[in-house]
Amino acid sequence: MEPSQDSAPQAGLQILSETNLSGPSLSLNLAVEDLPELPLEQSGLPPTSPVEMVIPKAGFNYRSDEDSKIDLRTLVYLEPLEHLNCPICQLPFIDPYTTICGHTYCYTCLEEALKSPLGSRCPLDRTPLDIENNDDVYPAPIIISNITDDLKVRCLNLERGCDWIGPRWQIKKHVVQECKYTQFECNCAIEEPAILDKDKNDNELKQDDIKPHYRICKEWTERRHLLENGKGERICPHLPEPCEKCGKNISFSLKEYHLNEECKRNFKQCNGCLLDFPVTGFENHERYCEKIHVKCPAKAYGCDWKGSKDLLNTIHANRCVFYKLSTYFETQEKEMEGLRRENRTLSTQLSTVLDSVVQGKITNVGYTLNVEEVGCQRQNKKNDKNLLDEDYLHLVMEFERLRTDFERVRPIVADFQQQQQIITNLANSSSHYREEINAQRVAINSLRQQLQFLLVERRNLNRAVRGIGGISPVESSEELNRFSNKL
Ligand SMILES: [Zn+2]
Ligand SMILES: [Zn+2]
Ligand SMILES: [Zn+2]
Ligand SMILES: [Zn+2]
Ligand SMILES: [Zn+2]
Ligand SMILES: [Zn+2]
Ligand SMILES: [Zn+2]
Repeated sequence: MEPSQDSAPQAGLQILSETNLSGPSLSLNLAVEDLPELPLEQSGLPPTSPVEMVIPKAGFNYRSDEDSKIDLRTLVYLEPLEHLNCPICQLPFIDPYTTICGHTYCYTCLEEALKSPLGSRCPLDRTPLDIENNDDVYPAPIIISNITDDLKVRCLNLERGCDWIGPRWQIKKHVVQECKYTQFECNCAIEEPAILDKDKNDNELKQDDIKPHYRICKEWTERRHLLENGKGERICPHLPEPCEKCGKNISFSLKEYHLNEECKRNFKQCNGCLLDFPVTGFENHERYCEKIHVKCPAKAYGCDWKGSKDLLNTIHANRCVFYKLSTYFETQEKEMEGLRRENRTLSTQLSTVLDSVVQGKITNVGYTLNVEEVGCQRQNKKNDKNLLDEDYLHLVMEFERLRTDFERVRPIVADFQQQQQIITNLANSSSHYREEINAQRVAINSLRQQLQFLLVERRNLNRAVRGIGGISPVESSEELNRFSNKL
């Protein structure tokens, strides 16, 4: 049930602040106490204290194995995964524990939260919890600690210049055993000038007064500045020595800083214009020197061109296809990187979910809830919410069913519409024919009437002719009948 040593936050924090603030000043105090009669300037220390010259940079200071706990909460993560953050501290889980209500927290965060005066309850849903009870609070699925321990972090000595990047579980080994920027107490014995008592004459001087005096150097010193003399003895890097360029007294641990940032006599030749420049202004010159040889900015995309800066700007930039396309390449690369990151996040999420499923535990793997959401999820409302969920699910299924039905019916409807169109066309043309037939019928009727009128005329004529004694009347009436039948 005890959290691992690494996750105790206060211990590490105290050490860091304590060493940063009182570390260097402590050693100065010692120096003054040891040499009460001598003013500071004559005591062999540099005229200004190192603290004033170089602002100490934040980082890891090593005291002893038991003392040097690392505060994982101060780590800088390269790609934090938000869904692996503790809902309380909003940082990737440190020693994660899961509650009976399915929430996961850092052990120390949960322990702190359960001490709340509001009672020992889950901060997200107010479920009563007893941290001593293994049924209420138990270690989270191992995959969660594995993922969070594998998250890439930067070295604690980033500000001092270490560019180490590695998984979180390796950070302690790196800063304690490897990192050359981790600071240690110097602990060298420094010989002090003998203290002479001026009131005593030479004869009265005791042996003790002439014996060399030592003080222990307590300066915080980066690992790379701890020196040995070849016989396994440590050399204190804090004893000032004259700078080989300008002659200023400077201690070894500050030499690098002095040569690169301060020394006015430290010259460096520009490989473009072949002139000497003081190191302090060299970077500035390199940026503007037109003669300096550079590679094409599109080198990464395949251009092998090399030449002076002025040639690059006047000629090559206009000719180089790679250079012209480089903005396009850059956007492509950025997009690809985004996709890669998304892919990684998704696969981590997937493995977390799979693990939860395999272990039969349903956790929220650290998803944070807003206060309003927490309010909504009070237990007495849980049943209502489940009902609503069921209704919603039912509606969704119903909708899906209707949609498939509709898809099936659609072609039939289309077919039907087509047939209807044909029928309408047929009906239209048939009514047209009917009209025509009617017109014909009218015409025939009028013809028949005219014919009958003509026949009557003819009969009257025949009668008139018979009176004179011409054609036989029988013959002519037969002919008449045949004709009218034809019509
Ligand atoms: Zn936490
Ligand atoms: Zn809960
Ligand atoms: Zn480091
Ligand atoms: Zn020292
Ligand atoms: Zn110098
Ligand atoms: Zn130059
Ligand atoms: Zn080029």
